[in-house]
Amino acid sequence: MNKRDYYEILEVNKNASESEIKKAYRRLAVKYHPDKNQGDKGAEEKFKELSEAYAVLSDAQQRATYDQFGHAGLGGGGFSSGGFNFGGTPFEDMFGDIFGDIFGGGNGRRSRGRRGDDLRYNLTISFEEAAFGMETKVQLPRHQSCDSCGGSGAADGSSPRSCDTCGGHGQVRIQQGFFSLTRPCPDCSGEGRVIDSPCPDCQGSGRVRRKKSISLKIPAGVETGTRLKLNGEGEAGTQGGPAGDLYVVLSVSDHSIFKREGREVICEVPISYVQAALGCELEVPTLDGRVKIKVPAGTQSGKILKLAGKGIPSLQGYGRGDQLVVVRVETPTGLTARQKKLLEEFAREGGEEIHPLGKSFLDKVKELFD
Ligand SMILES: [Zn+2]
Ligand SMILES: [Zn+2]
Repeated sequence: MNKRDYYEILEVNKNASESEIKKAYRRLAVKYHPDKNQGDKGAEEKFKELSEAYAVLSDAQQRATYDQFGHAGLGGGGFSSGGFNFGGTPFEDMFGDIFGDIFGGGNGRRSRGRRGDDLRYNLTISFEEAAFGMETKVQLPRHQSCDSCGGSGAADGSSPRSCDTCGGHGQVRIQQGFFSLTRPCPDCSGEGRVIDSPCPDCQGSGRVRRKKSISLKIPAGVETGTRLKLNGEGEAGTQGGPAGDLYVVLSVSDHSIFKREGREVICEVPISYVQAALGCELEVPTLDGRVKIKVPAGTQSGKILKLAGKGIPSLQGYGRGDQLVVVRVETPTGLTARQKKLLEEFAREGGEEIHPLGKSFLDKVKELFD
């Protein structure tokens, strides 16, 4: 008998890794699985061939023997001789593992109580709320354990019974040609138990969808993207499985006056150039109310004045950042004739001397071209 090369059957090359072989096998096994190709003899043959090739190539020792000696090295033709040996791996375990995943039995096959899903809730808060923290309540629709049946899913006075078909294991063994597969039990959908009279409130699922009011305590110092995790406030689990978690994801609204960078609050304040030149006392807004600051004479536009400790509190609970007041000097527009005259006089009076920035700039330009 002329046997095909195992690598060729699995459509992989000779130095394929273990996982490449496993992947190739899964792909082809799904394609040629007898369940999908009922009555197709060709597919059945291919499936057997595939199983044989995989059994050998997934076992490091047998693969080495095969690489060195070919089919002859595996003792009289392996599979078709009847007396096959898969290096001690029980057949159904090997396939149970693979088919469990492929055919959707992966969820809670053995431990049937399933953890509930995590939930995400997006919450928008104001700039001040982010800075100082807040408490609020949110209404959250979610699945929770059914009160009427205590989560069992069975109507009052009854309880779920163990499934007869699978004996409560949730899985059945199916003889497929010459090997057996483990599959989720069709009568209980792999749950291992059957509910004869379902609870009317949850239709036997053990869970109901309700709006739950949840209290949130937002700590001071949060920012957009901060995630708060509330353990066990997600969807209820099934059959006694734990509840999932709730993640509250925060986004902070923009403020009309303040901007924020980490723990610093930034605020731009316009002043006239007369104020800038002569100096002045200015009232600026902070998160704690108005505060007076001194703008020194000769202040340039863009100068930053610091208000220590007026920024955002640290999320870790110690200290506060600063507020940075950025001074913007405004050039006046719409001058009256008299104002123009005064300004012209003002310019003549001082010459360049009163414009230190301009003078040093002109000096630099001179240096550059002379
Ligand atoms: Zn069953
Ligand atoms: Zn119920």
